[in-house]
Amino acid sequence: HAQRHRSRYLFFDPLKYETTTRRLKLTALISSAQFLEEFELHYQPIVDAKDKKLVGCEALARWCSDELGQIPPPEFIEVAEEIGLIAGLGELILQKACLQAAHWRTLAPNMIISVNVSPLQIVDAHFQQIVENALALSGLPACALKLEVTEQLMLHDEEPLMEKLRYLQSLGVRLAIDDFGSGYASLNYLCGYPFELLKIDQSFVRHMLSEPGRETLVRTIVQLAHSLGLEVVAEGVESNELSVLLTEMGCDLLQGYCFSRPLPPQTFTDQMLGGDSG
Ligand code: C2E
Ligand code: CA
Ligand code: CA
Ligand code: CA
Repeated sequence: HAQRHRSRYLFFDPLKYETTTRRLKLTALISSAQFLEEFELHYQPIVDAKDKKLVGCEALARWCSDELGQIPPPEFIEVAEEIGLIAGLGELILQKACLQAAHWRTLAPNMIISVNVSPLQIVDAHFQQIVENALALSGLPACALKLEVTEQLMLHDEEPLMEKLRYLQSLGVRLAIDDFGSGYASLNYLCGYPFELLKIDQSFVRHMLSEPGRETLVRTIVQLAHSLGLEVVAEGVESNELSVLLTEMGCDLLQGYCFSRPLPPQTFTDQMLGGDSG
């Protein structure tokens, strides 16, 4: 076949070469013991839209490699997924985040922690056990833990997934759909699944002031979510103007640079929980 024959010729593509080389490097680095020393979590405050008081935070993975510098989380999370390390890394993230939150609750008793979980982590057979262990080890009550998952989760087989999510919900853990509106078949999953929160995708929020169509869309998403009994979180809130608008629209929780960037744990303690805020 002419086609098969042609495919034998390989052309050098510098961009692809660079990407592949970086991937291989990242793979080697993530698998090394050094990674565990370089890896950390930062925490971004989440505030109540009504009074702008701190209600919780989102744990965000950070990796500053000795060799390559700061690696964007979506990039190294994807590599960890590809090489089958996400279950282990995800477990570490959950444990760290739960321990931190349990500590912070001694200063701010109602503090809630949101942890991002990869769809592949949830699909893993031990996921429920991993969540239960992280709670038991840290002493964090289940109701203080929120798990954020993206719509990509919905590409997996529905039945076993539903059972897992319901089990987690029965423990008291709250489930949030992250990046709502950026992915697939969103509306369908608002009803059947045990989600209690919806995080509006940042791209909607960011362009709301310049594109009136987006504003209408966000308003409609908030109403829809509320009519289904879901709480609404807006993230990517960068300006006071956006904060005011989103509050007027009825968003329940706000998160963004306008309130604070993600902070290392000690800075979070000092800035957010210092003084008499406990
Ligand atoms: P995400 O879950 O949607 O997290 C929110 C992202 O928006 C974070 O980026 C945060 O730093 C950024 N952000 C927050 N407020 C603002 C704002 O006002 N303006 C702008 N421009 N950005 C804002 P980050 O930390 O780079 O994380 C990117 C993504 O990586 C996350 O998106 C999440 O999908 C993934 N990720 C991060 N940590 C973890 C983790 O521990 N586990 C998993 N599975 N994924 C993670
Ligand atoms: Ca998130
Ligand atoms: Ca998000
Ligand atoms: Ca995202």
